[in-house]
Amino acid sequence: MATLGIPQNTIAVLQKYNFNFQKKFGQNFLIDTSVLDRIIDASGITKEDCVLEIGPGIGTMTQYLAERAGEVIAVEIDKALIPILKETLADYDNVTVINDDILKVDINSIVEERNGGKPIKVVANLPYYITTPIIMGLFENHVPLKSITIMVQKEVADRMQVGPGTKDYGALSLAVQYYAKPEIVANVPPNCFIPRPNVGSAVIRLTRYEEPPVKADDEAFLFAVIRASFNQRRKTLANGLSNAPGLGVNREQVVSVLEEMGLSATIRGEALTLEQFARLSNLLLQRL
Ligand code: SAM
Repeated sequence: MATLGIPQNTIAVLQKYNFNFQKKFGQNFLIDTSVLDRIIDASGITKEDCVLEIGPGIGTMTQYLAERAGEVIAVEIDKALIPILKETLADYDNVTVINDDILKVDINSIVEERNGGKPIKVVANLPYYITTPIIMGLFENHVPLKSITIMVQKEVADRMQVGPGTKDYGALSLAVQYYAKPEIVANVPPNCFIPRPNVGSAVIRLTRYEEPPVKADDEAFLFAVIRASFNQRRKTLANGLSNAPGLGVNREQVVSVLEEMGLSATIRGEALTLEQFARLSNLLLQRL
């Protein structure tokens, strides 16, 4: 089978199957071999690795992954792509294609079954409409992971990487940085895809920490505090947290914790580091 990263080969396959792109599935297929090489290199895959690919499309990156990995599991929602993948991946006996919605499959059971529960690597050119739920699902469900190397919208890659005091900083930055070390490894312009997306893209690698860099006494409570802090971004923490349903903290408790931390009673969530959020949530818990 010819390499699909070359535009003419991709177009030939699409024409042969009379394939119609589905906007609702975020279908933008990669047609640039140097970008494909960059993603595969950044993921550091070897024959020891079991790889989960989310959204293989017509199998362009899947071919690269199959060459380098021990095993590849590819989950694709669009059933029109299944016969195409059968043909484009026919040369590989280490690829399993699952026709399902990645947000509905039990990834932990797949890892248990296919890799004896040992950590996998995730590599994908993600459908942009569900980037955040996919990443948060992998982390929050504690899928055994070494790393996640993904193409995402450039702006979302920036949000994952930034620290306090920037407009992009928010709940996604903190969640990603609690679980993993983020590094943008490439910026990718729209002309590397067919059809071209309206936005710039970036490849980001998230290397899973063995232990989170901060100690949260109650992880779920930490994330509830973070979410509440950014739900009402323009509000001070004292107001935002005491109004938040489900947290069960009052204004006095928030103000006294901020004081204990040496922070102003009028500070906003966007000014706090991950470490400060962990301390804030631990101290709030002690006052409940
Ligand atoms: N990997 C291919 C490439 O790089 O050329 C395709 C990438 S395209 C940006 C995203 C792929 O994810 C599409 O094939 C799309 O059908 C698939 N997809 C969209 N939503 C999905 C979902 N919920 N679960 C699994 N796959 C999905």
